[in-house]
Amino acid sequence: MNLASRDQQIIWHPYTQMQTASLPLPIVRGKKSWLYTETGEAYLDAVSSWWVTIHGHSHPYIAEKVAEQIKQLDHVIFAGFTHPPAVELAEKLLSLLPNNQKRVFYSDNGSTAVEVALKMAIQFWENQDKPKRLIIAFRDSYHGDTFGAMSVSSRSTFTQPFVQYLFQVDFIDVPIKGKEAQVIEQLTTLVQQGDVAAFIFEPLLLGTAGMVMYSPEVLNQLLKICQQHEVLTIADEVMTGFGRTGKNFACDYLTIQPDIMCFSKGLTGGVMALGVTTCTNAIYQAFLSDNPAKTFFHGHSFTANPIACTAASASLDLFKDPSCLENRQRISQEHEGFREEIKDHAAIKESRQLGTVLAIELNAGQTSYFNNIRQILYSYALENHVILRPLGNIIYVMPPYCTTNEELRQIYDVILGMLSLIANN
Ligand SMILES: *Cc1c(COP(=O)(O)O)cnc(C)c1O
Repeated sequence: MNLASRDQQIIWHPYTQMQTASLPLPIVRGKKSWLYTETGEAYLDAVSSWWVTIHGHSHPYIAEKVAEQIKQLDHVIFAGFTHPPAVELAEKLLSLLPNNQKRVFYSDNGSTAVEVALKMAIQFWENQDKPKRLIIAFRDSYHGDTFGAMSVSSRSTFTQPFVQYLFQVDFIDVPIKGKEAQVIEQLTTLVQQGDVAAFIFEPLLLGTAGMVMYSPEVLNQLLKICQQHEVLTIADEVMTGFGRTGKNFACDYLTIQPDIMCFSKGLTGGVMALGVTTCTNAIYQAFLSDNPAKTFFHGHSFTANPIACTAASASLDLFKDPSCLENRQRISQEHEGFREEIKDHAAIKESRQLGTVLAIELNAGQTSYFNNIRQILYSYALENHVILRPLGNIIYVMPPYCTTNEELRQIYDVILGMLSLIANN
């Protein structure tokens, strides 16, 4: 039996209706922006393998550092012990972050980074005997799949079976162009209740919502309102971090900085699972006490795994190299050129772009039609050896930064093909 069939006998895949799913594509090798099958067929990874791969697949520098580390120290309990990769990564990361970020807490992935942030925020108030109950989030947000992360995410088909188990969250709209004043008003009304512990948000770009974008100006205003009302702010940079939006972090576009930040995905260059939550000194201080009950009781078996920290540390070395920024700027320019090329296309409602992320919103038909067309478009791209996974009626490109202009052209040509498919449908 071939690999795909053996898989189909025993494996349950994420976000996949197993009854109707076609056989999974077996990948045995990755290099730069390409993934290869056993038989050597190549696929261009235009979605950075679920938004994680930033320097390309199996980068030799990261591979070498990881190989050295695994021979040296594989893992050690992180309560009562420490190790060089954890300390070095924390130092490197803090030097890149907004300068109000002073402490690093490790976990395993984006969802756990969010769980840690929420627990920090809630216990911050609790520890000061000023308990606050409410959390505010954007209505269309996505912060992960664990229960806390689901609670602060949009109520959708994904969360429907669990809805009665999710804690109460006050949602505000995403302040897209034209809606800014309305959202500022919504937030103002909510924070005046005085019982709000934190506001969690995806800065400037909501990925899962369909690459929805909003301005730094309005986010600054929202953060200011939170500050004025003693509401902690949590930036979920799990997707936007490490250069995706053009700057190092989406929060680098802001003049007001969040209290807590969450990272994962590109943190290790997309090589290993690792989550990080950082916070200000004020938050950290609220957990220092003679009273053991004020301890932050959270941890995972693999907290600060040395191999994962090494991968992240090596990824940051590559990230800090000037060629990384040059590549991001080059991709951004190519995206702009392509947007210009397709701006009058009949199938397109609008195109959006932030840094290396390009999103093309198709003229909306019925949702059911788009559920259908999404599958057709996905299959079409695969047949043409490009991995593109439209979100509903939104086609997006989020390539590794090493993707060349020729490879971008190949992606754009496949998108042009998708657009004519729609136009002829
Ligand atoms: C992907 C994502 C998460 C969840 O991260 P996982 O590692 O998949 O658990 C959280 N927040 C945002 C903004 C994300 O894009």
